[in-house]
Amino acid sequence: MPNIIFIAPPAAGKGTQSDMLKEKYNMVHISVGDLLRHEVDSGSPVGEHVKELMNKGLLVDNSIVYELLRNRLHKSDCDQGYILDGFPRNLEQAHVFEEISEELNRQVDYVIFLDIDKEIAMQRITGRVSCPNCGTVYNEYYDTFNTPGLCNKCHANLEKRSDDNVETFNQRFDTYITKTQPVIDYYKEKGVLHIVDSSINKEYTFTQIERIIGAKKW
Ligand code: AMP
Repeated sequence: MPNIIFIAPPAAGKGTQSDMLKEKYNMVHISVGDLLRHEVDSGSPVGEHVKELMNKGLLVDNSIVYELLRNRLHKSDCDQGYILDGFPRNLEQAHVFEEISEELNRQVDYVIFLDIDKEIAMQRITGRVSCPNCGTVYNEYYDTFNTPGLCNKCHANLEKRSDDNVETFNQRFDTYITKTQPVIDYYKEKGVLHIVDSSINKEYTFTQIERIIGAKKW
C-alpha cells in the first residue's frame, strides 16, 4: 500500500479521512497531533511544554516532533505503507522528512492537500467532539447521537479538545498560512501534490481520495 501525507488547515478532515482509510483498507494511521497529545497525557515535563504550545495554537518544536515520529515510523507495521496526518507542517520538517524517508528506505507516494475555506473549518471546529476511549470523532452540528453526549460506538463521554475554541483556531489558521502553505508549494514542485475539495462532506472527500490513490484497484 502507498505512503500518503495529508496536509490541510485545521479541521479540514485529515483525521476523519485517515480513519476512513484505516477502517476500509486497514492502513496504518499516524497522527502527529495524537502522538503529541499522548505525550501531554503522560504528564512528562516535555508534555507540559507541548500542552502550552498546543493550547496557544503554535507549532511544537521540530526536535520533539522528529523524535516521536521517528520512533513511530520505525515500528514494523509501517512497512506496509502509512498515512501521515499533520506532518510536515513547515519547510524544515519537509526537508528532514526526506532524510527520514531515506533512512527508512521509503518514499512518499501521494501528498493530499485537503482544501477548505476558513469559515467552514471554523464551524467544524466549534462542533467537534471526540471519544477518549475509541477515538471516534463527531460533530455536534452534523452527526446524530444515540444518547446525547455519549459515543455511539462505545458509550464513553464525548470530550472537546482544549485547542478547539475560536481564539486558538484563529492562531492555528495563521500558523497554517505562514508555516504550512509553503510546504504545499514544495510538494507541488516535486509533482506529488493532489488537491481535494474538503468542503462538501466526508463521503465526497473520501471518494476523491480513493480515486487519487487508486484504492479500488488494490
Ligand atoms: P492536529 O491534531 O493535527 O490538529 O494538531 C494539533 C496541534 O498539535 C497543532 O496545532 C500543533 O500545536 C501540534 N502539531 C501537530 N502536528 C505538528 C507538527 N508536525 N509540528 C509541530 N506541531 C504540530
